[in-house]
Amino acid sequence: MTIKLEKKSSSSVNESTINSIAEVENANVSKSTALSANSSYQIPVLCYHTIVTTTTGTYQTGLTSFKEQMAYLYSNNYTTLSLEQFRKIINSETTVPSKPILLTFDDCYSDFYSVVYPILKKYGMKATQFVVSNWIGGSGRMTKSQINEIAQNNIDVQNHTDNHSYLTQQTYAQQYAAINNAAVAIKSLTGKSVTALAYPYGAYDNNSLEALAKLSYTMGFTVSSGLCTSSNTKYKLPRICMIDTDTLTTFKRKITNGY
Ligand SMILES: [Zn+2]
Repeated sequence: MTIKLEKKSSSSVNESTINSIAEVENANVSKSTALSANSSYQIPVLCYHTIVTTTTGTYQTGLTSFKEQMAYLYSNNYTTLSLEQFRKIINSETTVPSKPILLTFDDCYSDFYSVVYPILKKYGMKATQFVVSNWIGGSGRMTKSQINEIAQNNIDVQNHTDNHSYLTQQTYAQQYAAINNAAVAIKSLTGKSVTALAYPYGAYDNNSLEALAKLSYTMGFTVSSGLCTSSNTKYKLPRICMIDTDTLTTFKRKITNGY
């Protein structure tokens, strides 16, 4: 009798142990599912413009500060994302790497090629350049061949419209043309598809959203601050503007808090 009871008791303990292990395993499975679904990512998307030795305006970053910022990201093991990696993350198609960050640069400034690109190359970093197609080859802007070169070397070259006008002051047809003309010009230079738009001045309206949908765009970037999370919709993705007064302290705050 006693032995039977002990056996039963022992078996019951084993069963309970097995249940616990199963529960742990199930918990691990759902944890890994949650991870691959990326329900909890928080990604800073930085928006730079021009990088200059001496700043003379708000939307400029001093070269010394920029070097310090990139060195900080490198030594603190941030993962600079390609735009395609970023797209996959927000669409739950891939896992989130450690310390993800998306670096974006607007307006095809020539200093991107002469100053930024060599620094990114040195650190093996990826970035996105949002190009205004009518400005290519203009004074202080990158040439066609420079844009083609960066596009083949870890820089995603994407759309910032054909002439940088406010989309919100245009009809649907005009907006569609401003976006599509730029995409055709950029694709003819790089040979790569153009599926993301940075709204000039961050300004968009319902017609802009409709044009992006019609053109099957995968992403639309604003200049609203904040970290990119699963609560952001694909055509209203936030970007953190980098400005002339940023110090390493404000840089760290921006990549941590999104503002
Ligand atoms: Zn711009």
